Amino acid sequence: MRVAVLSDIHANLTALEAVLAAVAPIDAVWHLGDTVGYGPQPNEVVERLTREGAVGVRGNHDSAATGLIDADWFNEDARVAVEWTARVLTPASRAALLALPERRTEDAFTLVHGSPRDPIWEYIASTAVARAALDDLTTPYGLFGHTHDPRVFRAQGGTVETLGPSDQAELQLDDRRVLLNPGSVGQPRDGDPRASALVLDLEARRATWHRVAYDIPAVQARMREVGLPKRLVDRLDRGL
Ligand code: ZN
Repeated sequence: MRVAVLSDIHANLTALEAVLAAVAPIDAVWHLGDTVGYGPQPNEVVERLTREGAVGVRGNHDSAATGLIDADWFNEDARVAVEWTARVLTPASRAALLALPERRTEDAFTLVHGSPRDPIWEYIASTAVARAALDDLTTPYGLFGHTHDPRVFRAQGGTVETLGPSDQAELQLDDRRVLLNPGSVGQPRDGDPRASALVLDLEARRATWHRVAYDIPAVQARMREVGLPKRLVDRLDRGL
């Protein structure tokens, strides 16, 4: 069974479509939250994931756009985007986001947006935090997003090893505990503007990262049209 693991799609339908086309054929989609926020097509992305039969979890932007948490925690641009998203979300999209759990288990994997102990807010961006997160896992493997950075943290004896997988990088999963971040579909921040995704082969226990080019100017034009902040528009083609 081939599973596409997608995170931080951030209402970028163009990037999502490009990724789904690039990783086909797949048997399932698992997503790690921040389905909306920043981008111009929140309803279309929620609908596309529903059509795909995707299962997933809720992120901080999804929580803020549906009123579960206060948007005042966000920086100015993110807050403006979240408030715009809240205004345009259809009742069906809102209900779909509100129905998402903060964590879920699929096969041998725990799915969270942030970290197992704080699924909405904590960033796993250092080996110290990864160590705690690996200890908190109740499954052999964990999938997380939130940092927009394709990343592996693997328990290695008493320490934690980290890898930054590039396009087509493969990782064979074994009896070591591991946390995998697919990177961001809709707003990559590792200096590569291409959409980032992960494909899991569950039988072979193999993870493969993919980078996918998409029509960034088309998304930027949509963002300008609906009046999203200029800094959010500009960062897409820098991948930062
Ligand atoms: Zn995000």
